[in-house]
Amino acid sequence: VTPPAPHPGDELQLLLEGLLPDDRRAAVESHLAGCERCRDELAALRWTRAAVQPPAAEAELPPALAARITAALDREDAAARRRTRLTWLVPVSLAAAAVLALLLLRKPEVNFVDVAARDFAAWRGGSLTLELVTPQPQQLAAFFAERLPDVPARVFDFGMMGYTLAGGRVHRVNGRDATFFAYRNAAGTDVVCVMYAGTLAELPEGAEEREHDGIRFRIYRAGGATLVFWEEGDVVCVLVSSGDREEAIQFAYAKAVKVS
Ligand SMILES: [Zn+2]
Repeated sequence: VTPPAPHPGDELQLLLEGLLPDDRRAAVESHLAGCERCRDELAALRWTRAAVQPPAAEAELPPALAARITAALDREDAAARRRTRLTWLVPVSLAAAAVLALLLLRKPEVNFVDVAARDFAAWRGGSLTLELVTPQPQQLAAFFAERLPDVPARVFDFGMMGYTLAGGRVHRVNGRDATFFAYRNAAGTDVVCVMYAGTLAELPEGAEEREHDGIRFRIYRAGGATLVFWEEGDVVCVLVSSGDREEAIQFAYAKAVKVS
């Protein structure tokens, strides 16, 4: 039986967190009923979630979780011997390893730069999809205003710079609501903007700091991309680009608005 395509991908995480809109939840649950691969992926996400949100601080790996991870790895071994489902079991194994690393390193702090760089790479790689595909900034802004009324939804127009809007998605950054919108130019250079409630003070060390028109910018390099952060009131804006560093900075200068 061929399950209805496409695989829901990152919507599984939203399903797990109860954040999926009703119509999408019905579609994903219907897909899950016919797709073993996605059912197993959901199970893997559940282990990860259980591990990174422990009920209380514990120094040792909870026995139940250890048993589940062991079971997962055993299952992978069995499947690898059959040499049939290796392609998706490798990510499951990596997820289990990530769980262990998180627990062992006990490093709860999150890094907005790495998260933004990871999501940018996921968008470029096709694993992070857009909810509204449109070249019209006003249409996307209206979508965000309806879906995320608490996050100011300013969607830039980069048409003068040769970039076309691809669309956007309601996103999460370290557990916070965020707008995520993407642009591409004719040469295939990608620019993504992300906005979430926060401050520059939450960002890691190691930025190049610049000031332009009274606005402070922090510029990072991560995952092969340039990331430019600035504040607009209570919101942090991030511009991520796969292209030229100075061009990315000039884009941020052009779109940043000083909020007193
Ligand atoms: Zn599937």
